[in-house]
Amino acid sequence: MGRCVYCGDQRGFWSKTCGDCRRLLARVQELRGRVGYGEFLDGLAGTGVSKEKIMGFLKADPDGKGSIQDQVTAEMASELMKVMGLKGGQTPQEVKRIRGMIGKESK
Ligand SMILES: [Zn+2]
Repeated sequence: MGRCVYCGDQRGFWSKTCGDCRRLLARVQELRGRVGYGEFLDGLAGTGVSKEKIMGFLKADPDGKGSIQDQVTAEMASELMKVMGLKGGQTPQEVKRIRGMIGKESK
């Protein structure tokens, strides 16, 4: 048995992720680009997966492309920048700088 690439829990032979993280990933695809960060977290909590596991999942970076949290926050930051009339296209790396700002902006 291998380990889930997101949370490190045991997983099946057929998947890189455990059942919980697979559910979270599906929900991420549904929600990203459509809701604010608060709603996004509520949507993930709605899967019934524990909060600790969700936080671990969001911070994992199995592909080296930035964590789910940074990718989604980067998308939201780009939207926010557009709304504010600034240039979009924030990368997950850049977003760490402005994450605090987004937290204050979200409702
Ligand atoms: Zn997992």
